[in-house]
Amino acid sequence: MTDAPLFKPVNWKDAEAATGLRLDRRRCYALSQDTDQTFGHLLHEIATWVESCTGCHETFEGHSVGDYPRHPKHGCEIGAGCEECGYTGVRRHSWWVPSSINSEDEAA
Ligand SMILES: [Zn+2]
Repeated sequence: MTDAPLFKPVNWKDAEAATGLRLDRRRCYALSQDTDQTFGHLLHEIATWVESCTGCHETFEGHSVGDYPRHPKHGCEIGAGCEECGYTGVRRHSWWVPSSINSEDEAA
């Protein structure tokens, strides 16, 4: 196990060069750096989501404690607001997920 990051963010040109595929240039791509293919896919795209802030939204064993309003767009409960979330009550997260192009390639 090395200390190298698992994902190397690349632009669409480098992603196309590495995969030999024609890609959507508007998306963010990363190449998996695990040489033993733990994740099974070379090409990854970024996934983002919004959820309740852990700093100001109280839960007990995964269930919310209290009466929180729901976010109109994302559906998650909105916390009271704190420094962690910039007083919005929600946090935006992102992570690399295997690209759907990988599965399209496998299906073909
Ligand atoms: Zn907060």
